Amino acid sequence: MKRGWVLVAAVAVAAIATAYAMTRSGPVPDPAVAPQRPAVPRPPGAALEVTYIANEGVLIAAGGTQVLIDGLHRRYRSSYPFLPEPYREQIETAQAPFDEIDVILVSHMHLDHFHPEAVARHLRHNAAATLVSSEQVVREIQTLADYADIRSRLKTITPPLKQRVATVAGGVQVEVLGVGHGSGRHATVQNLGHLVTLGGKRLLHVGDASTEDASIFEAFNLDQADIDIAFLPAWFLTSDEGTAIVRQHIKPKHIVAVHMPADELQRAVAQIGERFPDAVPFTTLLEKKFY
Ligand SMILES: [Zn+2]
Repeated sequence: MKRGWVLVAAVAVAAIATAYAMTRSGPVPDPAVAPQRPAVPRPPGAALEVTYIANEGVLIAAGGTQVLIDGLHRRYRSSYPFLPEPYREQIETAQAPFDEIDVILVSHMHLDHFHPEAVARHLRHNAAATLVSSEQVVREIQTLADYADIRSRLKTITPPLKQRVATVAGGVQVEVLGVGHGSGRHATVQNLGHLVTLGGKRLLHVGDASTEDASIFEAFNLDQADIDIAFLPAWFLTSDEGTAIVRQHIKPKHIVAVHMPADELQRAVAQIGERFPDAVPFTTLLEKKFY
């Protein structure tokens, strides 16, 4: 009941916001209509394939193993990209090319990263997949009426702020990091970072971590972790605080920029390029990079 009203309210707010934006500045760019890039052949020697899903969603694949991070969400705010049809249906029902996912990681419960029904649907259609996420995310799935059949594949790991828990899920080494979502209204949101080892590479995803407290990232000694690829939300790459954290406490070999609003994409890409000219911004749904 409560969920129903929240949904109704959210849809109403989105509709009003869209109508308002359109009256002010013309049509809002629709994140669902981003064109797909033509398939890029895998370069010789590349061990790892990374596919941009939408917003902070990435699918990483190597040696027959696949990890999906923040890739199962639905239309939420008009400004954040999400996977349109028919791809949303494909990923939620584990159809090719999304039929070989072993591990589903979710940084936090916000709807531009996660939808409980989308995750539950994927797990139901893919008996090989396991979810690893926070108490808050798992609880959202447990509120669904029919989750009993996937219960055994929900793994809850919620390290406190500045603490980490190592686990192996679907044969993949994952370190779950309590990085938080910042202060204020997001202080109680359990936001997890993930350090994934796959295909001989180490990949970092920080969810919606904040840049306001550098000591959080300092606590993990990530600069010693030999990180090959860091998926970082744009605000880490466009602010002085974020830049300092990346350069001092993360030190990744490669940066992939994510979480850019569709209506400010070009500006975000330009700003990121000023500070991190080698960073690769994920701008086109389902585009791939090889490492
Ligand atoms: Zn968030």
